[in-house]
Amino acid sequence: MKRILVTGGAGFIGSHLCERLLNEGYEVISLDNYFTGTKKNIVHLMDNPYFEVVRHDVTHPYFIEVDEIYNLACPASPVHYQYNPIKTIKTSVMGAINMLGLAKRIEAKILQASTSEVYGDPLIHPQVESYWGNVNPIGIRSCYDEGKRCAESLFVNYERQNGVRIKIIRIFNTYGPRMHPQDGRVVSNFIVQALKGEDITIFGDGEQTRSFQYVDDLVEGMIRMMNSRDDFEGPVNIGNPHEFTMLELAQKVLDITGSKSKLKFLPMPADDPIQRQPDISLAQKELDGWEPKIQLDDGLKKTIDYFDDLLLKGI
Ligand code: NAD
Ligand code: UDP
Repeated sequence: MKRILVTGGAGFIGSHLCERLLNEGYEVISLDNYFTGTKKNIVHLMDNPYFEVVRHDVTHPYFIEVDEIYNLACPASPVHYQYNPIKTIKTSVMGAINMLGLAKRIEAKILQASTSEVYGDPLIHPQVESYWGNVNPIGIRSCYDEGKRCAESLFVNYERQNGVRIKIIRIFNTYGPRMHPQDGRVVSNFIVQALKGEDITIFGDGEQTRSFQYVDDLVEGMIRMMNSRDDFEGPVNIGNPHEFTMLELAQKVLDITGSKSKLKFLPMPADDPIQRQPDISLAQKELDGWEPKIQLDDGLKKTIDYFDDLLLKGI
């Protein structure tokens, strides 16, 4: 039975990945320091004898014998990664060094959860993997963007120098159940605000775009990437190419929830990308025709049900 380490396993995406890997019959170890993740996300898996939970910070070395490592540990929401930017850089860079060192020592295959943020505020649209990006190296998002870019560099160099088997995916905005209700990302913010009847906070004029991917589609893409042919290392975009403005997203959330919330326009945060849409042709070609199956309305309904339940329980 394959044994798999998931760093950031108690986070939003990590918890879905652990669940899926366990369902496929693998032995799974979640490693997390619970900065933005919570045991509540994985408590339903704890009865499974093939699931183990480790409290650990990836900025410190860790040793374990596994066949594969999915490296997800890193806060993902701008509010959380800007809370302690130096720690964010350490998590991306030292976390990558520690996990790559482990992969090298135990000859494990390792996948990096990189991000569309490596493209910054992109001047090429939609974004293809060969685009080098437009990142402000000293802006408030740089702790995350440059940390993730450095991690990509570490990954390719561990492969070139040490022959480590690597895979890099660039994840575009992903949403779904188990997002932290207060993590400040747009989908969770709008849903929680609509359900509570509070104002919907639109940053800027709301004309900036994002392409939203439901978490199950991402997890499918991640696993296909881990199992892809040995000489395909990526980076590969994993995202849903359907692009929406934040005003369109707000309207969808209002329509589905039936909320009477009003729109409230607030200043646009610095360096907020104007547009973002993945070109997924490489993923379709290399990952057996992978493409997102769940469209925004359906994914939003599932996510709204989750938050509705959470709010009913008073969480
Ligand atoms: P999340 O914040 O829910 O999960 C991150 C997890 O990492 C949390 O459980 C957190 O406690 C843990 N963590 C943070 N720092 C750590 C450290 N130093 N040591 C150990 N654990 C640590 O975020 P998410 O949305 O699940 O994102 C998971 C990964 O996917 C991240 O690497 C993120 O950069 C990447 N990603 C996510 C998105 C998205 O839209 N959700 C987009 C692009 C990339
Ligand atoms: N956003 C917004 N209202 C909010 C939270 C975010 O209008 O309450 C905007 C934000 O300015 C950005 C987009 O929604 O343009 C996506 O933000 P998020 O933090 O979810 O992700 P990222 O900017 O990292 O793509």
